[in-house]
Parts: sequence; structure tokens; C-alpha cells
Amino acid sequence: MVHGSKSETAIVGGGPAGCACAYFLKQKGIIPVVFEKKSPLKTLLPTGGGRCNLAHAEFDFKALASNYPRGEKFLYSVFSRFGTSDTIDFFEKIGVETYIQDDMRIFPKSNSSADVRKAFLNALSGVKFQQENVMSVNFCNGGFEVRSESGAYFFKNVVIAAGGHSAFSIVSGLGHRVIEPRPALTALKTTENYSCLAGVSVRNIAAECRGRSFSGDLLFTHDGVSGPVVYMISSVMARENFPYKIRFDFMHGENLQQLLNENPHKTIKNVISEIMPKSLAETVLKKCSVNENPEAHKIDGKTRDRILKTLSEFEVEAVSPAKGGEVVMSGGIALDEVNSKTMESKLHKGLYFCGEMLDIDGFCGGFNLQNCWSTGFLAAEGVSAGRV
Ligand SMILES: Cc1cc2nc3c(=O)[nH]c(=O)nc-3n(C[C@H](O)[C@H](O)[C@H](O)COP(=O)(O)OP(=O)(O)OC[C@H]3O[C@@H](n4cnc5c(N)ncnc54)[C@H](O)[C@@H]3O)c2cc1C
Repeated sequence: MVHGSKSETAIVGGGPAGCACAYFLKQKGIIPVVFEKKSPLKTLLPTGGGRCNLAHAEFDFKALASNYPRGEKFLYSVFSRFGTSDTIDFFEKIGVETYIQDDMRIFPKSNSSADVRKAFLNALSGVKFQQENVMSVNFCNGGFEVRSESGAYFFKNVVIAAGGHSAFSIVSGLGHRVIEPRPALTALKTTENYSCLAGVSVRNIAAECRGRSFSGDLLFTHDGVSGPVVYMISSVMARENFPYKIRFDFMHGENLQQLLNENPHKTIKNVISEIMPKSLAETVLKKCSVNENPEAHKIDGKTRDRILKTLSEFEVEAVSPAKGGEVVMSGGIALDEVNSKTMESKLHKGLYFCGEMLDIDGFCGGFNLQNCWSTGFLAAEGVSAGRV
């Protein structure tokens, strides 16, 4: 059955990108139908650990785009039209005041993603949310057939904002190239078993992976490593194959010989524990075969060098992403088939994409939601411009 629809425009996916597009369409007097299989904006709730890191205080559009391992160039024109200050204005308009944290991440003043969702849904009053799982979108008679489990609908314009996870089958009939989705911003499973260190974290360390340098906090997990520095590495390495080696430098610029000289009667474990958690110090000493715990003045040059090498080149081999732990997926609709000014498909007039569905992903820090607000805005502009 093909239902007619009073609305000319459908949005598939009621996450941050789809809802941003719906809001900006509504501003232009276009009321879309939003197909959402679960509950609108539910994916916003866990963001920022429940606080919703909704943007990053980088106001230069090129500098902002440099935080996206995939999509940087495409985002120049996107962010030049809708950047960080537009995001702040948009949230202010819907009643969400924001603040900038010391690390430049932007949060709602209430520190509550539930509050952001509530305000956003209020601002979307009048928009029709249709709780249906869309199975396919196909080109049909100069428009689009949106087929769900309950039937088929016809629209002149369709904006696809179904996220980066499993939704690509719905566009398989449209001929767009999809870059294989792979987890980015994820914890990593390692060959080495450091389960004894699960929960241990080390602040602001340097790391190196295939000649690239990183820094940030590290967290050991029951089957590998996590924390901001690992998220960053997983993001940059998302399109490369496993396994790959990561080297952490726990020395923080400290001089081991000086530490030994200053603490001659402390045991080596206690000396190293000055710069890292004790359990990690034990693991480091085991790793470099210092099984006893001599006093610092008894450490000979060879042993010191071995300890220093392990401390400054602590190596793990990443073998896969940790299961189900990804914050964002890399991959998606190939960007060379999408107009960066309108988000319109270059293959089909009236078809638009926004959000994580596109082959765009950013680092931690509010960049992935910024992509949703900006591409959602431009898709709405594109739909609106396409009507005249
Ligand atoms: C735990 C966690 C924390 C995060 N924290 C942050 C943060 O603080 N800051 C930040 O910038 N980013 C954060 N992110 C990333 C950010 O949440 C995503 O990039 C963003 O949600 C992508 O939005 P989207 O609308 O493109 O896709 P999604 O949020 O995935 O929304 C897609 C929507 O489409 C619906 N859908 C999918 N398929 C169909 C279908 N066939 N039919 C109907 N509906 C469908 C889904 O139910 C969903 O509601 C976080 C991610 C996670 C997992």
C-alpha cells in the first residue's frame, strides 16, 4: 500500500542530526514526518557521560574541521555556514544555556542531556514522529518511496539521518557508495593481558603509534586499554588494519637517574610509584624482569636502562576494538557523492543525508554532535532551497 502524505518531506532517523534538520525545516515553515524506530533523541541521553558535550569552543571553521579524521575538507563549507557560535545560538533559542569547560568542551549549564532532550523535543512540537522501522528508501516516480514494516509512503524529499551503525541497508537501492563502517573512538583489546590493572588510570601520558604522536589519559581495562589517549589513537587508526602496536611513555619528562639519586634508600617500586600507580609500577618491574625489589642505590646501569626503556616505551599490541564500546563509527555515505553546501545527493535530486550516516567522524570533545547540528541545518536549507 502506498500512502499519500500531506508532508512533502520525510526524515529517516530521529537522532540529533534528524531532529536538528526537523527543527530548521520547521523554522522555514516546512513540517516534516520523522520516521524513528525507537524514541526521538534517545541517543542524546548517554552523550558526555549524561552531560551532553554538545560542541567544542573552536570558532574558526578550518581549525574546527581539523578535528575530523574523516571529512575535514568537506566540513570546510559546512562549518563556514553553520559553526560553533551558530550551535550556541541554536541551543539558546530552544532554551538551553551553555558554558565552556576548561578543556573547551561545551555543555548545557544544567549538565544534563535529559534537559537538552526535553527542550529540543519541546521545540519540535508540531513535527510528526512516526514510530516505524524503515526498511528501504527507493527512487520512485521523481520522488521517494519510504517503505517501513507497516507500509509504504511517498515523499518528494527524503533526508536520511539514520546514524552510523547498521542503517546502510535501507539505502542500498539508491546506488550510493558506502564506506564500510568501522568503530572509531573506542577502547581497544590487546594481546597482552593486563587484567590485573583493570581500572588503573594514568594521567596525561604521551603515546606513539605507527610514527604518530598522541597524548591524554590512559585507562587499563579487563582486556586492553581505554581512556582519551586510546580513543584518539583508535580514531586516527580506524581505517587501518589490526594488529598495531602502541607505545606509552610513562616518564612524563622525569629523569629516572635523578629520581634514583634523590631516593637512594627507597625501594625501586616506591621510586617508580612516585610517577605512576603502584600496581602499574609492579607490572613494569615484572615486565623488565626486576623481580626483587632492591633499594634505588643498588640498581646498576644496565638494570636502570631496562627499566627506563619499559617505562618510556611500554608497548601493547591492539588486536581489535573492544566489543560494543564505540562512541562513533567511521565510514558511511561517500562524501564525493554529496553536495557539501546542501547535503543533497549528487545521484538523486531530493535525497539528502546528515549526521553520522555520512563518512564523517570526529575526535572526542563535542565534534560528533557538531557534525549533526551543522549537516542537519544544511540539509534543511537544501530541502527548502529545492522547493523554489
Ligand atoms: C556513549 C556515547 C557518548 C557520546 N558522547 C558524545 C558527546 O558527548 N559529544 C559528541 O559530540 N558526540 C558524542 N557521541 C557521539 C554522538 O552521540 C553521535 O555522533 C550522534 O548521536 C550521531 O547522531 P545521528 O543523529 O547522526 O545518529 P544517531 O544518534 O545514531 O541517530 C539515528 C537515529 O535513527 C534511528 N534509526 C536508525 N535506523 C532506522 C530505521 N531503519 N528506521 C527508523 N529509524 C531508524 C535510530 O533509532 C536513531 O534514533 C557519543 C556517543 C556515544 C555512544
